[in-house]
Amino acid sequence: MMEAFRNEPFTDFTVESHKQAFLDALSKVKAELGRDYGPVVGGRRVSTGRKQNSINPADIEQIVGVVEQADGKLAEQAILAAAEAFGTWQRVPPAVRARCLYKAAAILRRRKHEFSAWMVIEAGKSWVEADVDTAEAIDFMEFYGREAQRLAERQPLIRITGEDNELAYIPLGVGVVIPPWNFPLAILAGMTTSAIVCGNTVVLKPASATQVIGAKFMELLAEAGVPAGVVNYLPGSGGEVGDVLVDHPLTRFVSFTGSREVGLRINERAAKTNPGQRWMKRVVAEMGGKDTIVVDSDCDLDLAAEAITFSAFGFSGQKCSACSRVVALDEVYDSVLEKVSARARQLTVGQPADAAAYMGPVIDDKAYAKILSYIELGRVEGRIVTGGGKGDPRGYFIEPTVIADVSPEARIAQEEIFGPVVAFLKASTFEEAIEYANNTEYGLTGAVFSRNRMHLELARERFHVGNLYFNRKCTGALVGVHPFGGFNMSGTDSKAGGRDYLLLFSQAKLVSERL
Ligand code: GLU
Repeated sequence: MMEAFRNEPFTDFTVESHKQAFLDALSKVKAELGRDYGPVVGGRRVSTGRKQNSINPADIEQIVGVVEQADGKLAEQAILAAAEAFGTWQRVPPAVRARCLYKAAAILRRRKHEFSAWMVIEAGKSWVEADVDTAEAIDFMEFYGREAQRLAERQPLIRITGEDNELAYIPLGVGVVIPPWNFPLAILAGMTTSAIVCGNTVVLKPASATQVIGAKFMELLAEAGVPAGVVNYLPGSGGEVGDVLVDHPLTRFVSFTGSREVGLRINERAAKTNPGQRWMKRVVAEMGGKDTIVVDSDCDLDLAAEAITFSAFGFSGQKCSACSRVVALDEVYDSVLEKVSARARQLTVGQPADAAAYMGPVIDDKAYAKILSYIELGRVEGRIVTGGGKGDPRGYFIEPTVIADVSPEARIAQEEIFGPVVAFLKASTFEEAIEYANNTEYGLTGAVFSRNRMHLELARERFHVGNLYFNRKCTGALVGVHPFGGFNMSGTDSKAGGRDYLLLFSQAKLVSERL
């Protein structure tokens, strides 16, 4: 029996020994840079000869690893390997599958800093952000292991005389898991292990920017005793392998986290029934956000400014939960704008391997160009108060940027930028502020800073987002504490880290026996 679930604590890097341990992990990882990785299908590392470098976004000359890429044919083989493994894995008792997750969590806990260091190097995360990511990966595995055991206890039914009734949750089949690069370990681990702990087998297609971390996670699963073929690792381009995986008639479900554009494309393709297909494919999608923090006229402005700064610029704003809009009431607008700008100016942007860097680079050349073009647009649609420039030319660095006086309809107030850019909007009443906050196609996170109980209650009812926070930041959902997922174009509201999550990868079977 396992102890009750508890969130993994974060590391306090002000403690010298922790700092030293992290520096040691960074040295270990640096000594391993440039190694070869590639697809793993049916437990076998497959060589494709199509090598692609994974680079450090903070220092684009540095090669993190060389990853062989899969093609459409290998994608097909990976689905077949998963289908074969499903034959046995679906019959493994949930408690045994859960043990694989507990073991993987235990190994990860022992090698915590090493995995975090890989994220510093491959994803450009600061120490703190990487540590949080690893802790969340541990949490997901511990949490879903226990959830699988809870579901195995069967749903309580109304009992009637003369019958023995039972409702059991059984797996769906072969799933395609497509996680994002922004939580390259936590979300990848959560999406993969939630699916397999239910008895499904999967093909895991990692995000192109963070394929080395994906490969490291595969090593971890093998070490934890997950049998061959249960998770098949398929690095490759979305265009080349993504469609093959989604379209395949043996694919039973697709679990996706990433952009809205790709999510909608997957949803459309998965809706089409292909020859030989015997089911409706299930799509679980977590997509974008255009998340707002509302600042009421009566609130703790320093607390609000602190939370906005963290929510907007943590990991360079590359979270779908990130605050990209502030709607402040007239009376406090100038003051909160000034406080956030002052804090943003203090943030250190630099090489994430240095403990002192608060913000590293953005993920790749495409993100870099896109964010910079939104900043240019911001000069037209608003007024740049802080930032707006590039940083160290060795990598994709962008300054934390605050844009004031933006109208609610402006493109920078409507479109997801996914970078260190926050727009300020002014509202004259609290009702109007909530109206602006809801005025997007998304509905993922939001926060309200207020001392006014009636205003908080109004927001509780009308602020239409999956994760609503009062008087705190709008990022950093904790597994089990803040089940995470949103409304509208933010996805299928598939609350990761919550009690409903495993049901998405299961189907219920009722057996009724007349006695
Ligand atoms: N769960 C994360 C948070 O609450 C965000 C996940 C994401 O960006 O996809 O900050």
